[in-house]
Amino acid sequence: MRQVILGRIGEIALKGLNRGNFEKNLARNIKESIKQYGNAKVVWSQSRFFIEPEDCDNYNYDEVVSRLTCIFGLVSVSLAYELESDFEAIKDNALRLVKKKMDEFAAGGKTKVTFKVETRRGLKTFPMKSPEISAEIGGEMLEAFSDLSVDVNNPDFILFVEVRENSYVYTDIIPGQGGMPIGSNGKACLLLSGGIDSPVAGHMIAKRGVKICAVHFHSYPYTSERAKEKVVELAELLTRYCGSIKLMVVPYTDVQLAIHENCRDELGTVIMRRSMMRIAEVLARKNGCSALITGESVGQVASQTMAAMYCTDNAANLPIFRPLIGMDKVEVIDRARAIGTFETSILPYEDCCTVFTPKHPKTKPSLDEVLAEESRYDFKALEAVAIENTEIIRVGNAEV
Ligand code: ATP
Ligand code: MG
Repeated sequence: MRQVILGRIGEIALKGLNRGNFEKNLARNIKESIKQYGNAKVVWSQSRFFIEPEDCDNYNYDEVVSRLTCIFGLVSVSLAYELESDFEAIKDNALRLVKKKMDEFAAGGKTKVTFKVETRRGLKTFPMKSPEISAEIGGEMLEAFSDLSVDVNNPDFILFVEVRENSYVYTDIIPGQGGMPIGSNGKACLLLSGGIDSPVAGHMIAKRGVKICAVHFHSYPYTSERAKEKVVELAELLTRYCGSIKLMVVPYTDVQLAIHENCRDELGTVIMRRSMMRIAEVLARKNGCSALITGESVGQVASQTMAAMYCTDNAANLPIFRPLIGMDKVEVIDRARAIGTFETSILPYEDCCTVFTPKHPKTKPSLDEVLAEESRYDFKALEAVAIENTEIIRVGNAEV
């Protein structure tokens, strides 16, 4: 008997001919993300991944389970006992697990506990069928624990028994991220501000298997060094899900000042957003990205009306992914909390958009008037200098 970690896949299992590639990709990402915890084999068969540590006695299972809940492609994980497929072995280890569960409930002040047994039998040569195994194991548990009873509809916990080549018993299924393994769907460039929205947007696209790099526009000294550190910190928080992130910090002050000085205030924001898209596109293409990602949602601010986004889109020749487009702020905040970026996002450092925000930005700019206004100055030359002086920060050291 030893402990292993089971990982379940979701959408990958629906893939046809390509399925093997997705699985290999996921295995690589799993290995990379847990290598710091010691050697472990990662193998898979029939929609299941098995993480088998070399040194079971000294393996930090809890940490690794928690780490795996951040890996895109895994729908859920369980810490399980792996044993030979033999009824006595299954029963003994089930007893051990249920005892642990009863102790946990008792520690929380609950003594009367309900459960049920769910069995899956993949090994057709095993002498008992699934319902029979459930009934027998259930009976043994009831005999051993007088405070335990069965509730098949709404049990306090479920004892899972899986009989395959080896057998597995476990009680907890911990939800993972779902999605597709990073690297299985190309690469995109996230416009990462210091706010709440863009980290969530990056997480959502990365979840679809897209490798992320990030661009941040920094307007020193209008935005502080600390504001930049905050963005690095947000990128770091994302690496838990996305693997390493190449963060490109664009010195944006001169462009922003030029917009401020040469363009009508009410069009300043939309012209700035177009300029950001142009710069982001160049950096994205240099890095093999096929799309840009922003944290915009319809109507959130003046630059996120449909008319304004039409003007913004027109400046870029790459698709712009806006995964938050139909979300309310509260929904975005919930997600930011769930992925652990919220607390950092609300730290009070100005981002470059707020410094130059006009009092009355036009909510329905027409592309013609924006293009006319933009032509009053050679922004592209300044943008080229900004691109040239972009600082590269490598965040995270995973090879994923
Ligand atoms: P966020 O909460 O992500 O900052 P926001 O609601 O403040 O978003 P805006 O400031 O209008 O909205 O920015 C919209 C999107 O443009 C952001 O989600 C981000 O993708 C991008 N963006 C804005 N400012 C910057 C910046 N300084 N650097 C990089 N991207 C930016
Ligand atoms: Mg912002």
